[in-house]
Amino acid sequence: MALGPSRTAGRGRRSRGKSVAERTETDTVVVGLGAMGAQALWRLARDGVDAVGVEQFTPGHDRGSSHGESRIIRTAYMEGAAYVPLVRAAWRAWSELEEDAAARLVVRTGALMLGAPDSPAVTGSIAAARHHGLAHEVLSDARVAERFPQHAVRPGEVGVFEEEAGVVLPEAAIRAAVRLAAAAGARVRTGTAAARIDPDPDRPRVLLSDGTRIRARRVVVTAGAWLPKLLPRAAGPGGLAVQRRVLGWFRTTRNPSPHANGPVFARDGADCTWYGFPSMDGGRTVKIGVHAEVAGNGVEGAQWGEPVDPDAGPRPPTTPTPAGSARWPPGCAGWASFPSAWPRACTR
Ligand SMILES: Cc1cc2nc3c(=O)[nH]c(=O)nc-3n(C[C@H](O)[C@H](O)[C@H](O)COP(=O)(O)OP(=O)(O)OC[C@H]3O[C@@H](n4cnc5c(N)ncnc54)[C@H](O)[C@@H]3O)c2cc1C
Repeated sequence: MALGPSRTAGRGRRSRGKSVAERTETDTVVVGLGAMGAQALWRLARDGVDAVGVEQFTPGHDRGSSHGESRIIRTAYMEGAAYVPLVRAAWRAWSELEEDAAARLVVRTGALMLGAPDSPAVTGSIAAARHHGLAHEVLSDARVAERFPQHAVRPGEVGVFEEEAGVVLPEAAIRAAVRLAAAAGARVRTGTAAARIDPDPDRPRVLLSDGTRIRARRVVVTAGAWLPKLLPRAAGPGGLAVQRRVLGWFRTTRNPSPHANGPVFARDGADCTWYGFPSMDGGRTVKIGVHAEVAGNGVEGAQWGEPVDPDAGPRPPTTPTPAGSARWPPGCAGWASFPSAWPRACTR
């Protein structure tokens, strides 16, 4: 979210070496350096815009939405063909970040969408692929079982496989983008919160928790789950629902593990859509998350999508409720079920 007039950013107005406390004028303030803000700050600084990035914690921290080792990137977007141009732009942006950072931040694995032939994961992926002419394969249950033995596919299920998919490494990407932003001239304030934003249309002002006042031409607010606290009206008429999401790292039980390699995946089940990654630790564990639950399935509020105050601090999951425990998704072969999983929580 950007506040301020919509003129294009000025170039060459950078003034390195001055602290924010001394200099309270800038072109753009970016509030929140998670996945979105870190990259916004980097691209602004790279384009010569005088910018200040403000982060209340340390970039790459574990309190927001952008942590937990891995994120899926797909191209044949099951949520709708309209997203495909955005995903293609995202791929280009990731490549640029990797190149500038000289680091591997995206691991290409391919993606496998699984479910009944009429399930949203399957029909949505096929529709997006066909609409944009994306390479993909539709696999029968027998072909899935043969090619991807890590999945316990049920009779009649199908798989949609695409190569243009993989795993983004969120913490490393944030740190890289913040480092590059600073190297390009952005001033980065970490461990400092934006306490208030006065959205003046000509010259918005940001008040930091240490008393610093910054006047800017515009303010980009990428505060994630904290947005409703910072800008209650910007969160929209219905507000934003901030939720706690629990992820599980399941111990694999076979050696060699069938999860050591393979595509990221999503699977439509009867009461939820869940997703997972190939093992990122050489086959020891495999990470699973729940994408969306069907209302009234007994899972809601059971650590999957519980409303939470993002300032409440980390609260490690202990054990799921009995309802939640029964719902840790079946469908993979060669892993141990809860409690031999290592759950962690994110907010979103
Ligand atoms: C469990 C889970 C799984 C997901 N899986 C996927 C996936 O597989 N693929 C995918 O594409 N997307 C996925 N997403 C979505 C994706 O992770 C998010 O869209 C993305 O991380 C959001 O980043 P963000 O920068 O908006 O938020 P955040 O990472 O939360 O960043 C917000 C930042 O703002 C800072 N901040 C807030 N308020 C202030 C303030 N007042 N002053 C200073 N700093 C402040 C916070 O400390 C934080 O660092 C997933 C999300 C979750 C929660």
